[in-house]
Amino acid sequence: MADPAPTGKSGKVVIRNIGLLLSGDIDRPVLDADTIVIHDGLITAVGFEADCDTARATTLIDARGTCVAPGLIDSHVHPVFGDWTPRQSQLGWIESTLHGGVTTMISAGEVHLPGRPKDIVGLKALAITAQRAFDNFRPGGVKVLAGAPIIETGMVESDFKELAAAGVGLLGEIGLGSVKAGAEAAQMVKWARQYGIQSTIHTGGPSIPGSGLIDKDVVLEADADIIGHINGGHTSLPEAHVCELCEKSSRAIEIVHNGNERVAIAAAQMALQLKCPHRVILGTDGPAGSGVQPLGILRMVALLSSLANIPAELVFCFATGNTARIRQLNCGLIEVGRDADFVFMDRAQHTAGRTLLESVQLGDIPGVGMVMIDGIVRCGRSRNTPPATEVPVVVGAH
Ligand SMILES: [Zn+2]
Repeated sequence: MADPAPTGKSGKVVIRNIGLLLSGDIDRPVLDADTIVIHDGLITAVGFEADCDTARATTLIDARGTCVAPGLIDSHVHPVFGDWTPRQSQLGWIESTLHGGVTTMISAGEVHLPGRPKDIVGLKALAITAQRAFDNFRPGGVKVLAGAPIIETGMVESDFKELAAAGVGLLGEIGLGSVKAGAEAAQMVKWARQYGIQSTIHTGGPSIPGSGLIDKDVVLEADADIIGHINGGHTSLPEAHVCELCEKSSRAIEIVHNGNERVAIAAAQMALQLKCPHRVILGTDGPAGSGVQPLGILRMVALLSSLANIPAELVFCFATGNTARIRQLNCGLIEVGRDADFVFMDRAQHTAGRTLLESVQLGDIPGVGMVMIDGIVRCGRSRNTPPATEVPVVVGAH
């Protein structure tokens, strides 16, 4: 396995012999190219090998004809501190999720912290601490964007200003705290937006004691940037209401693993029918009562591709480029200047699908052969996915 350069930067990395290159861009999901060149964690060239400057690479990777896609983004997780979740008393869940191809996770609130403060000074302090802690510590190399305060009644504009100035860029799911009425939520969403803080609303029935029902009217009135787990987390609104949300709102449609699977399919199909597939993003909502799901995003991709009949190359965009664009991240797309965060996949051994994409469309999850973050190899063959038919190899310096 390639050691990161002593500086922690990747140096020059060349990935050649890519069999299928998924871009993450829903308008052009497959790229006609077989080579990626990286300098210090950023993509500097994408094309055919003959057209790329591949000389003097610090690390040379032979993809051996496998598929390279942007690292997957889990748009909805509930981390607490480090690589530990009190929700299921589990260690190492983030590093384990790296083995499911996830390179970035976005907190929807550090709601599981035992004794979580609910007073305004306390909730702001927790958010700032979580943002700092995960900025300084990446389990397995995974980028965890945390520090998402659970907002409570009584917060005023200056609280949002203070949070933004301290580097907090996300709100935890609205509805997990005492703010539940549409008008109150709408005011807080406006303040957050004014200071560049992105908002997500909990959609559906209560998830944990203290949370409540957030129905379609509240979601529409609050107008948060992201319709969090539109398929419920766990309990979904009626399917007709979910379709109405897709139609009447223009905000992001977030579909999660820990929600209602039937409604997940309906929401994705509705987005396609409304010709707004770029609004669909995927999350797990883990760790939660359903546990930790290291393969949660890959399972969502296989579910939506196979049962909602959406081409697999488009569904991968739900978990990569769509999320990156909606959340203004520099990862999630394979283009020059973007972060070199990739997942290498191949069809699982003995799947009925003849190609990777066909296997996913048949409902099988792919085998992960390598994961790279910032141009550095973070794991080889996944210990969690079924074994990939072919895996890439680090062949050393050029
Ligand atoms: Zn959640």
